[in-house]
Amino acid sequence: MPRHLFQYQFVCIHEGCQGALTNIRFHQKTRMVLDVSDYYVMAGEDYNCNKCKRHVIS
Ligand SMILES: [Zn+2]
Repeated sequence: MPRHLFQYQFVCIHEGCQGALTNIRFHQKTRMVLDVSDYYVMAGEDYNCNKCKRHVIS
């Protein structure tokens, strides 16, 4: 998971917000991704913005 793996603070993507994103859970769906030689499964995270209170999926 990007935020846990890299210990990086994400910023809200909504225009004019600049709030900090905090992860609330793993996203409920996983994705199959085709790499050069094989497939792998990728899981995302759900984030909440502490300023505008909107929901963002990584
Ligand atoms: Zn925001």
